[in-house]
Amino acid sequence: KNISIAIDGPAGAGKSTIAKLIAKAIHFTYIDTGAMYRAITLKILQEHIDWKDEIQLKKLLDHTKIDIIQGNVFLDNRLVTEELRSPMINRCVSDVAKIPLIREKMVELQRKIASDKNVIMDGRDIGTTVLPNATYKFFVTASLEERAKRRYNELQEKGFPQSLEEVKLEIQQRDKIDSERKVSPLRKHEDAIFIDTTGMTVEEVIDKILSYIKI
Ligand code: C5P
Repeated sequence: KNISIAIDGPAGAGKSTIAKLIAKAIHFTYIDTGAMYRAITLKILQEHIDWKDEIQLKKLLDHTKIDIIQGNVFLDNRLVTEELRSPMINRCVSDVAKIPLIREKMVELQRKIASDKNVIMDGRDIGTTVLPNATYKFFVTASLEERAKRRYNELQEKGFPQSLEEVKLEIQQRDKIDSERKVSPLRKHEDAIFIDTTGMTVEEVIDKILSYIKI
């Protein structure tokens, strides 16, 4: 039977950094579900479609191909991994991820990817909705200050000129939309192991998670 690891938590908690390294260490496939919502957001922005119009949206979803290959995201066969991290996408993605039709499609795709291999999947609703029978469930968070700082550093490295205050507001806003939406909101599954990574190094978080995993 396949083993699956679900990692949920708010924006900037370091989920993807951690999940990527764990996947490498234990030879699992890493799936960044946030990147999938980011990719569909990019497509909507590019096509200028009205996402409140169900017919337009359905048509768009039927004509969109999202692939994750070795951590790289391809939107309709085009490599978009870097583009997905832009402030523009950050601002819009949570509004797009609220739409039930979009979530339905993404969850279906996520389950399909996870169905025949050992996976570590990170997101907001993996333990609660996407893989409720996941072998291991974690909920990873950190203080708002620390999450903002981590995201800020990441954006600086990529050359996006945003202030720490702006980044903080943006992730606060995104967390609010993600936890208040009606369909599969950001929430800790009651059985998920809670890890507050404030003040912890990446290595410490990884060791902690690995200490629970028996393979
Ligand atoms: O993880 P990341 O910050 O890249 O996620 C971007 C956005 O995608 C989140 O703020 C959320 O709105 C949405 N998302 C989601 N469900 C997931 C993963 C991401 O709604 N499983």
